[in-house]
Parts: sequence; C-alpha cells; structure tokens
Amino acid sequence: MKKNITRIGVLSSGGDSPGMNACIRAVVRTAIYNGLEVCGIMRGFIGMVEDDIINMESRSVANIIQRGGTILKTSRCKEFYEFEGRKKAYENLKKHGINGLVIIGGDGSFRGAQIFSSEFDIPCIGLPGTIDKDIAGTDFTIGFDTAVNTAVEAIDKIRDTAEAHDRLFIIEVMGRDAGYIALHSGIATGAENILIPERKTVIEDIISQLAGNERRHKLVNIIVVAEGGEFGGANEVAKLIKGSLPLLEVRVCILGHIQRGGSPSCMDRMIASRMGYHAIECLVEGRYNVFVGIVNNRMHYTPLNEAVKKKQRISEEWLKIVKILAS
Ligand code: ADP
Repeated sequence: MKKNITRIGVLSSGGDSPGMNACIRAVVRTAIYNGLEVCGIMRGFIGMVEDDIINMESRSVANIIQRGGTILKTSRCKEFYEFEGRKKAYENLKKHGINGLVIIGGDGSFRGAQIFSSEFDIPCIGLPGTIDKDIAGTDFTIGFDTAVNTAVEAIDKIRDTAEAHDRLFIIEVMGRDAGYIALHSGIATGAENILIPERKTVIEDIISQLAGNERRHKLVNIIVVAEGGEFGGANEVAKLIKGSLPLLEVRVCILGHIQRGGSPSCMDRMIASRMGYHAIECLVEGRYNVFVGIVNNRMHYTPLNEAVKKKQRISEEWLKIVKILAS
C-alpha cells in the first residue's frame, strides 16, 4: 500500500566504496526536489540505534560528488542483528518523523534492511554500494569500477618492475567472497593466471603453467589472487609455488585498502547518481523494499528478500578468456 512519505533517512553501511558520496548527493537532492525532508543517519545502522541523525539540505552535499569515502561515515553494527537493537532504531526514526529509508551498502546491509522492513512499517530502498560487485540483480555496483581501475593502475606499475627483473609477482586484490576485482583487473592487465574464490584452484596446474613458461623463457608472470581464495591469499600461494619451483624469483604485493579509496570514476559517479535518483522515485511511487540496480543499461528493481538470497555468478566464459589470452 502506498504511504505518504514525507521525511526520509539516508545512510551508508558496511564496507565503504568510492561513489557513496555521489549517491548520497543524488538521494538528498532528488528527495528535496520531490518536496521531501531529508535526514542523514551517521555511521550506518549504528546511527539509527544510537540516534546519531542530522538534518540535511541541498548544500549539505555540495562539493562531494568527486570525493571518496562517505560523509555520513559507515560501520558494522552488532546491535542491528538483534530485534532489540532494531526496535531501538525504529523508535529513533519515529522520533525524527522519518518514514522512508535509503540504505547504501552491500548484501549484508540489504539483509539488515530486509529484516528491518519486515518488522516495522518503514519502507526501505537499497542501493548497491560495494567494491565487490557480488550482488545479483545489477550489472554494476557503486565503487567497483573505481576499485578495479585502482588495481589495474597498480598492477601495470608492478608489471614494469616484474619485466625489469624477470620476476613472478603474486598480487592480492580485495574480494573475500567474490572474485570480480581479481577477474577484471587480471584480464585488463594481461595476468597469466587469476585465482578467485568462485573457482577451485589446482595449484599443480599453476606450477606446471609456470614451469612451461620458464621453458619458453617467459619469466615475467603476474598472478592475481583474490584475498578470499582457498589458499588464504597471495603469501600462501607464493609459499606453495616456491616449494615446487625454488629457483623462480617470486614477489608478493598486497594492494589492500587503496582499492577502497580515491576519487570515484566517471562511471561510478554516473551509476551512483542514477541509482540515487531512482531510489527516491521508488519511495515517491510506492515501490517499496527493493534494491535499485542497473541491468542492460535499464533500471532494475529486485525485492530485498530476493536480493539477499542470490549472489552474482562468474560465467565460465570469462575464465576461458583468461586462459586463452594468457597463453
Ligand atoms: P556489507 O553491507 O558491506 O555487506 P556487512 O555484511 O558488514 O557489510 O553488513 C553491514 C551491516 O548490516 C551489519 O554490520 C549489520 O548491522 C547489518 N546486517 C547484516 N546482516 C544482518 C542480519 N542478518 N540481520 C540484521 N542486520 C544485519
């Protein structure tokens, strides 16, 4: 049933991603355009539980579209896993007269939003803000493009030094449960191999590939490893390879948190702006408890209760491309 939404809350939650600010800006300004009042909820769900809520105006989001991080800050909130915590959050929202919520975050945040919206009468709209791109129901997530471009820039630089010394580099990128950053950055930098959590890695195959490359005098090799790989990360993979090929010069580089920061790419600013705009359209039109995605360049709405069940899968074709192009 359509409700009369008058005052909304916006928050960023879970892991941060570049483009969250551009998204907050779009939400705030579209809401104001539609005659709604806007509150910013600080530090994700913690701000709801602890009543850390501020009023926002159009000027509150000036000069942030190009900034990484999130002006509303983000966090992981233990209390939100418990009904008592969510009830406290609801009471605080009521106190502020908030009757609609926009949550920018990953699949965990969507799970929290889905449970909250099933318990209390506040419609929630999710916006996929995560560098991992692991949410089914959207081709893109806010922050992925920037993160993957940061990884590509770093790996290109590493290849220069790898070439100079004829070395094998094992580069660890982010992605605890998802291999998208590894897959895209690996293909884009011509990596010889890519290790991702979605695919079983046979270490003997990698060793025989490296030994074959050595015989062909191909001594420069780049292996991109997602941090959530079955061996535990780049250091562990390096140890296994060194154990079998002791003469190989191996170096490890862990890219780490640089992948989360920095000015968002044009692509991330664009999707953040589009998604933020459509989140408010959803609240105004009565399309509640969905997350806003983009599929085939069109807006796509997935009910939050379906979104939390599915993960985006990596197609076999991508993995074939990696293999063929690295030969
Ligand atoms: P992300 O949104 O980046 O995936 P998390 O998985 O840490 O990050 O989720 C962010 C927050 O969402 C959690 O700290 C918690 O407050 C809330 N959340 C996640 N899962 C649930 C759940 N099953 N029930 C209630 N709240 C949840």
